Amino acid sequence: MELYVHIPFCVQKCKYCDFLSGNYDVKLRERYTYALISEIESYKERFSEETITSIYIGGGTPTFLEVVFMQRIFDAIFQNFHVAEDAEISMECNPGTGSLEAFKIYRHMGVNRLSIGLQSANEDELELLGRIHTFDKFETTYREARLAGFDNINVDIMTGLPFQTWNKLSNTIKKVTYLKPEHISCYSLIIEEGTPFYNTYKEDVERREKDLETEALPDLDTEYDLYKRAQQLLEEKGYHQYEISNYAKEGKECRHNIGYWKRVPYLGVGLGAASLIDEVRYTNVRDISSYIEKCESDESVRVEEIELSKKDAMSEYMYLGLRMNKGVVRQEFFDVFQITVEAVFGKVIKKNEAQGLLMAAEGRIFLTDKGMDVANQVMSEFLLD
Ligand code: SF4
Repeated sequence: MELYVHIPFCVQKCKYCDFLSGNYDVKLRERYTYALISEIESYKERFSEETITSIYIGGGTPTFLEVVFMQRIFDAIFQNFHVAEDAEISMECNPGTGSLEAFKIYRHMGVNRLSIGLQSANEDELELLGRIHTFDKFETTYREARLAGFDNINVDIMTGLPFQTWNKLSNTIKKVTYLKPEHISCYSLIIEEGTPFYNTYKEDVERREKDLETEALPDLDTEYDLYKRAQQLLEEKGYHQYEISNYAKEGKECRHNIGYWKRVPYLGVGLGAASLIDEVRYTNVRDISSYIEKCESDESVRVEEIELSKKDAMSEYMYLGLRMNKGVVRQEFFDVFQITVEAVFGKVIKKNEAQGLLMAAEGRIFLTDKGMDVANQVMSEFLLD
């Protein structure tokens, strides 16, 4: 089983952000810490037989939480769960939070992978995004993490930013790859309703949906072009793509994410966290006061519970699995569902194979390069009624 821990605190809200995070005062951060610990403790009995193979501390900005609180959370995790000796333990970090001292303590606590949110190496883009840091600050954070002993670092960058040109994106990629992180996530900016970005770029978002010309945001063709050129440059710099948005040095793929795409059961703790246990999807309450109050009065924080049918699970298995370049391993599908993938999806596989979008070879079913370009369309065909 995998474990996800949500830390919903940030120095300030980025203009495009729709994650569950905010700048709450230290009193609330402390109450949240204890609430989270009591949620962790509440699962001790239920998961006593399970081994945690990976832990992901996400947010928000986990490195913005006081180190002493984080230590208590880690103590609770190790006291209440059986964590595998070789577990991958990742923590998200934003430049300008964390310090050499703090990074050393995280390493000591067992964190062995750091994921730093940079998004862009261009100052004008960082400002536009409402980020709290400069590229210089990112470099300092990166070097401090290395000094503290982190030998597995991811850097997040973004494509599809307003006014982004290939010059700007390639500058970001070159500056990041120069530092040789083990892993790079290269995500497309998605503008969500309710964010300041949505209000600013609403017209462009609507025009883009209709495949029309846009002013600030790259139109669909430009976005595709940026994605392909980024893919090529990253490959040239020694990063192989193993998932639509993720690139890594050999052997440094993120195990936690791969587990998620392979539907390894996961327990999510903290505000708004989701879990997938025994084919039931649970979601925690999203309001921070309710979360804390429920934990303080020993009430369940789960507000949604959806039981997945075998058909739901098989569809999900396919469209998550196809996100990865290696695709779905036939034998693994059979081991999980006791039926061959062809018996369930034979028709749709054949159709997409004939169109050159899918390939079935070496015991796997995976998207071709052409299929990757229209991944959403192909994946949607694996939905079972
Ligand atoms: S750092 Fe991340 S979680 Fe925090 S506000 Fe910015 S985008 Fe949102």
